[in-house]
Formats: sequence, structure tokens, C-alpha cells
Amino acid sequence: MSSAPPLPYLEGYSPAVLAQVQELLAQGQLGPYLAGRYGEAHEVRNDKALYLAALELKDRFMRNTAPLNKVLYDSKLQVLSHALGTHTKVSRVQGRRLKASREIRVASVFREAPAAFLKMILVHELAHLKESEHDKAFYQLCTHMAPDYFQLEFDLRLYLTHRESSPATVSVREGRPQPTSSTANPSC
Ligand SMILES: [Zn+2]
Repeated sequence: MSSAPPLPYLEGYSPAVLAQVQELLAQGQLGPYLAGRYGEAHEVRNDKALYLAALELKDRFMRNTAPLNKVLYDSKLQVLSHALGTHTKVSRVQGRRLKASREIRVASVFREAPAAFLKMILVHELAHLKESEHDKAFYQLCTHMAPDYFQLEFDLRLYLTHRESSPATVSVREGRPQPTSSTANPSC
């Protein structure tokens, strides 16, 4: 067990869950699991399409919230330290800034990610327009927009884990087992 790779995207989850994920990773099962569940890609390739996708969700679920100024892909945005780095803890500065600017930035990794994960991150960021902290009200809003929000967020963490553990095969659409790489690629 001591040689198991760290799981930065799953910080805060129970040791039992982490052990399960390590096993899936070790057996090369994480990719096939994700490919089976999240085969659907999306066509949201640029900032304009991203804005429209966010707007559609907002109009449906958060019509009364102030309009969005801007929605864009940001290649400098780190998923871990942004949307997912505060799974249990709160980043007040980040929340306030988001709320004040009514701007949504989505890490570029979501451009290639399965459709369900792009929706999940848009739901997450839209909910921040109203609730700046990761508290009960925030997650209630998330599950209002996406009833399976918690499953999606967990599986997104698995996706990011898988992605970094097998840098040669970013796509989960191909379900075949991947050769194990000896070095993780930190440049993703
Ligand atoms: Zn957040």
C-alpha cells in the first residue's frame, strides 16, 4: 500500500473509498468504469458555446439571479485549487470575487471532458453566483440543477485522477485498458 500513488483529487474522502479507488487504478479499471458511464462527449468548444451552455442552465434554474457577464475557458485555472480544492473548506475570497464579477471561469480540461462533467462544473459555478460558500444551501442548489450532483462530482474526481495517472490517454471514450505508465505527467 505504501507505494500507492497519492490521490490529490480525492482529499477528504474516507480511507475505505480511497482504498477502493487505489484498487481500481492498480487494476486499470478506472478508465473502463468512466468510459462506460460517461461516453457522451460535448460540442462546447469555445467561450461563446460555453456562455450559451451556462445561460441555458441559468435560465432554467436561476432565472432571478443577476445576469452573467462572462463565461470562459481558462487554461491557467487549476481545477484542484479552484472548484474542487475546497471540497469541505471554504474559500471566501474566491467566492466573493466570483459573486462580485458574475463571471464564470471553467478550467480548459473541461473542453475535452465528457458532457456530464462540463454540466457539473457549470452547475457548481452557477450555484456560486448565489451561494459563495460550500455549505448546505450551496449543495441544495447544485442538486436542484443536477439531481445526481454528488455522484457527478465524485466521478469527476475519478476522471481527473485517471487522466493524470495515464497521460497518454486523456480520453475516457476509449474503453480499452491502458498500459501502466511508470511516471505520472504533472504538466496536465
Ligand atoms: Zn466551489
